[in-house]
Amino acid sequence: MEIYSWKLDCGNTVLHGGVSIGDLIKKSGKSCLWEDRITSEVNVVIIHYISAVNVNASAPFSLSDILKIFVDYGVSSHYLISRDGSTYNLVPEEKKAWHCGPSLMPSPDCRKNVNDFSIGIELVATEQSGFTNEQYSALCNLCCQIEKRYQRHFTYVGHEDVAGVEAVNAGLRTTAKTDPGPLFDWSEFYKCINITRNKNSYDSSCEYIKGSNL
Ligand SMILES: [Zn+2]
Repeated sequence: MEIYSWKLDCGNTVLHGGVSIGDLIKKSGKSCLWEDRITSEVNVVIIHYISAVNVNASAPFSLSDILKIFVDYGVSSHYLISRDGSTYNLVPEEKKAWHCGPSLMPSPDCRKNVNDFSIGIELVATEQSGFTNEQYSALCNLCCQIEKRYQRHFTYVGHEDVAGVEAVNAGLRTTAKTDPGPLFDWSEFYKCINITRNKNSYDSSCEYIKGSNL
């Protein structure tokens, strides 16, 4: 699968209202929307959804509006997967992206500051839209590639699992995140992850198509 590079730094040329995202980042006083990791032990993937519904209700899946939201809120994610399954790399995996906020891994892991050791993947969706077959396929192939590159299995959790009610009860944050929410089909996701793990043995290409019988 092809992964497009849309790094969230001053060189980003995607236009929003006639101004490049890179210039908007510069204007916000930053040179990029990531920082150095303090650990090389990266072994968790966090699944999110994001849309522009609050700033552009008529085009909630607008990618440039979503990039503008990242800039405006000073947040970021390693990957963004659009409705048609196109996959964009926004932050280098070896850098820390700002996608979890105050967070806590589910028991028995219980590590805090999940950004430190995770890769964030944003699926373009609203609370009501659900996710497309193309997104499930792209997500699965991306996670397969990640496991292949790191030569290990990752733990997959939702933003709601690390920044939800448990994190609020632990006093880490005041509001609970709810993404990817009940419309994200975890059984479908694990089904394809297990297929790619068994099939590819980390040495052939990651090509899973949702609905096919690989
Ligand atoms: Zn999220």
